[in-house]
Amino acid sequence: MEKNLLEKTTDPLPHRLASALSKVSVSLKRRLWRDAAHRRISPLQAQILAFLRQRSTHGATVSDITNMLGVTMPTASDVIAVLVKRGLLRKFRTEADGRVFTVLLTTRGRRRAEQVQGWPDFLLWAAELLPVEEQESLLRTLVKLIKSIQDRGEIPVARMCVTCTHFRPYVNQDSERPYHCALVNADFGDRLIRIDCNEHEAASPEQQERQWQAFINRTPIA
Ligand code: SF4
Repeated sequence: MEKNLLEKTTDPLPHRLASALSKVSVSLKRRLWRDAAHRRISPLQAQILAFLRQRSTHGATVSDITNMLGVTMPTASDVIAVLVKRGLLRKFRTEADGRVFTVLLTTRGRRRAEQVQGWPDFLLWAAELLPVEEQESLLRTLVKLIKSIQDRGEIPVARMCVTCTHFRPYVNQDSERPYHCALVNADFGDRLIRIDCNEHEAASPEQQERQWQAFINRTPIA
């Protein structure tokens, strides 16, 4: 059948999806820069504070921060030094390995992190407008996108269920809760998939691949 005008002139679907995601990303960056200028804090400082807030009492090593934010070690070290000087962070050597530094928020840093905290209201508001089923489905799709981009080394490794050694995909018949977390012995579904879990332990590359295939094909691990 001959293509109609719309079919001939519209960009392919993957191109439009990438364009839509890029628009969301631009809006986030603009908001981050605007908020950061308003609060007299650089976007990277704000990202480090927000990231450490998610890590609650655990803190993070400098290399966790470089991995998560995709910045170089010297850049992260410089920004951390500024935040330590401003009394927002505490940095100390870890007991297990004296060459490794752990960074924690101070009480003041925690208050500041709450002010600059991650998700801009407008994005949360837009997500909440979606019906719950669409939120779940979008989360599942985003997990797949993140994993694919991550596998190409384009973004830092996320601590997601699909790459965790405790994740058991499609072990239950219950379509609401087909997964199992072996760490806490609990069944769950797409609604509770985590993308930055404090308890995450990376599975071996072989296990990750088996889990991944099971997840995308909606089947138990072969
Ligand atoms: S430990 Fe966390 S990341 Fe791992 S399966 Fe359980 S909830 Fe998911």
